[in-house]
Amino acid sequence: MSDLERNLVKAKKYLSRFVKNGALNHINGQAMPADDGTTFATYSPIDMAHLSHVAHGKASDIAKAATAAQAAFKSWSETDPKVRAHILHCIADHIEARAEEIAFVECMDTGQALRFMSKAAIRAAANFRFFANKAIEARDGKSMYAPNQLNITNRKPIGPVGIITPWNTPFMLATWKIAPAIACGCTVVHKPAEFSPLTASLLVEIAEDAGLPPGVWNLVHGMGEDAGKALTEHPAIKAIGFVGEGATGTRIMRQAAPTLKRFHFELGGKNPIIIFPDADLERAADAAVFMIYSLNGERCTSSSRLLVHDSIYEDFTTMVAKKAKNISVGHPLDPKTTVGPLIHPIHEEKVNSYIKLATEEGATIATGGFKPEGLKDGCYVSPTLFTNATNDMRIAQEEIFGPVLTAISFKDEADALKIANDSPYGLTGYIWTSDVTRALRLSDALDAGMIWVNSENTRHLPAPFGGNKASGIGRDGGDWSFDFYMDTKNIAFAMTEHKIPKLGG
Ligand code: NAD
Repeated sequence: MSDLERNLVKAKKYLSRFVKNGALNHINGQAMPADDGTTFATYSPIDMAHLSHVAHGKASDIAKAATAAQAAFKSWSETDPKVRAHILHCIADHIEARAEEIAFVECMDTGQALRFMSKAAIRAAANFRFFANKAIEARDGKSMYAPNQLNITNRKPIGPVGIITPWNTPFMLATWKIAPAIACGCTVVHKPAEFSPLTASLLVEIAEDAGLPPGVWNLVHGMGEDAGKALTEHPAIKAIGFVGEGATGTRIMRQAAPTLKRFHFELGGKNPIIIFPDADLERAADAAVFMIYSLNGERCTSSSRLLVHDSIYEDFTTMVAKKAKNISVGHPLDPKTTVGPLIHPIHEEKVNSYIKLATEEGATIATGGFKPEGLKDGCYVSPTLFTNATNDMRIAQEEIFGPVLTAISFKDEADALKIANDSPYGLTGYIWTSDVTRALRLSDALDAGMIWVNSENTRHLPAPFGGNKASGIGRDGGDWSFDFYMDTKNIAFAMTEHKIPKLGG
């Protein structure tokens, strides 16, 4: 039996519960179908095989979930932070114990390759551990001294919050949002993406198996326009943590305006990776290739615009093209696979439309741009590199969100900066140079929320995560997450008998 065949047997075992019972909503500690009994189907992008039916939640399911989250809030927010921390550590233990099941279900539902998804569960557990350790300090504040006054701040959890997540790496992303929310005492209603709903059901089940009280974490599956919309409109929900497209963010703001919610938005990107001739070019090429072709290119922080100094443009793009050509595309459960199928035929069509557009706009398809042989049934797109592109082309301005890289040349540092910042987005930037002064200058001038110098994106959990411009609003990570999920209060104590103006006698 090959590794793939062995993995397929395991995947069948892990998916059998979904085949038999479907994926249910989970409200107040109970797995349940949608109120109106309707379901939608989820298919595997590997071959479009039916994986499961999924509860199709709508406004009445959201109302139930929001009521449960509201009812659980007082007790959970007043629970000793050490107890909350202990439960979060137990959730991490349970995630680790079920890492293989999570990874296999995620691969089948999203098309992401096992070599990355096996780590996603471990990263998700790390998110819970990190915020478990921080739970103890969540309510801490500052003290600020004035000549006759001492100001002391503290923080309190804001209330029930709505978490809306996208289809790329859904398990990891959900934990990234939900772990800090429950660590600081908020309760949650989660609406996962309809294209990849299955691991969200595993996650809430794992959390309650690990001891999370009913109602603290509620899950409603459904479409953006029904369940998602109802969540953003519900008056009991105090804040929305959203990861997804900018256009959806705009809609969410509009929907939530009457109930004056707080927002944290993590949106798209068209992130530049800037290569100077003095960089370690082999390492830079590996980083560029990793950041666009790992996770099928369905990654908000992907380095999707490759800016290369014109003196090395030909050589460097040839090196990248060679590496891209060698990437193995195939079944996500094959341990040799790096690039699996895109999430859905609709998305495959979108990515392919940019491949067609590249030629129309005058760029060159240096490699890729086709569906690999033998993979006709799935949503596969081979790793693709566009060269001879200019930054005004749509392939350089719009987020493609697939294994597709657009290479542009620049003449000097000022030109590189101008091109890099000429984008509606501002999520990340990657700089490759051995000149530390230039790196400092450029990293300061790049209009993006996160910059990596001589590195691919490696996440440090205490550091802030988020984007500028159309890439988002707010930051999470470390204490920034607590700032979002908590209200800060200032308490001022008089320290002297200062003069109080006497009005009215
Ligand atoms: P999307 O905006 O289409 O959907 C995201 C979620 O929003 C889904 O759960 C969807 O059902 C829900 N939704 C849709 N319409 C809604 C509405 N009217 N009200 C409430 N909820 C609604 O995004 P997607 O296609 O699932 O994900 C891909 C996008 O996510 C890309 O743009 C990518 O860059 C972005 N993303 C950003 C980050 C980041 O950290 N910046 C991380 C991952 C993905």
